[in-house]
Amino acid sequence: MIVAIDGPAGAGKGTLARRLAREFNLAYLDTGALYRAVGVRVLEMGADPADPASAAHAARTLDPSSLESARLRDEDAGDAASKVAAVPEVRAALLEFQRGFAKAPPSPCTGAVLDGRDIGTVVCPHADLKLYVTASAEERARRRTLELQEKGFDAIQERVLADIIARDERDRDRTAAPLAEARDAFVLDTTEMDADTVFGLAAALFRSRADQLAETEPEKSGKPDRP
Ligand code: C5P
Repeated sequence: MIVAIDGPAGAGKGTLARRLAREFNLAYLDTGALYRAVGVRVLEMGADPADPASAAHAARTLDPSSLESARLRDEDAGDAASKVAAVPEVRAALLEFQRGFAKAPPSPCTGAVLDGRDIGTVVCPHADLKLYVTASAEERARRRTLELQEKGFDAIQERVLADIIARDERDRDRTAAPLAEARDAFVLDTTEMDADTVFGLAAALFRSRADQLAETEPEKSGKPDRP
């Protein structure tokens, strides 16, 4: 089973995706890390992440080991990521890797969950379950500020909010695979929900979809065929 989770920065996609992966034996791909790695690579080259030639070169020569770097979580990595992500050549270079992961998740997983901005719309338009996880910009900024402060950073909520709004605009307004809800996605607005509630809702949707697939496509659901 393939689960696609999309939504804006800081909405809780990663937390949800990891929990679904653990609960249902799915392989997890954080596709934002791919764009962050490309963004960081461009910064390390001393180039401008918004420069299409530098961004495309960095994407084509990306070293998978760089996906593990803690540097990817820095704020400037997120900012650079959203700039390189607007370059069509970068998206094209990363597309096959993402599709390959979804199609053949590493063993022993029985499916995959990918989170990002365009998973349900472009990367896996035929995903079995699509979730669009969102929250108000103010709430996302509040959560992100707490997270940064817990890590010992001196984060100011107004600045985090301004960064989130700028990143939302760049992600929504670009022409290449903009952030958008797939028509068949379930929208989870988490503004007033805690992580357990969001997980409970998503897990219920997953189980119901798995049951539906067991009826119609038993080989996909991972469940034995009905007698
Ligand atoms: O999800 P995360 O904040 O790590 O993503 C960083 C940036 O990478 C996003 O702001 C977005 O511009 C880009 N991205 C994307 N498509 C994806 C995943 C991330 O454009 N599937």
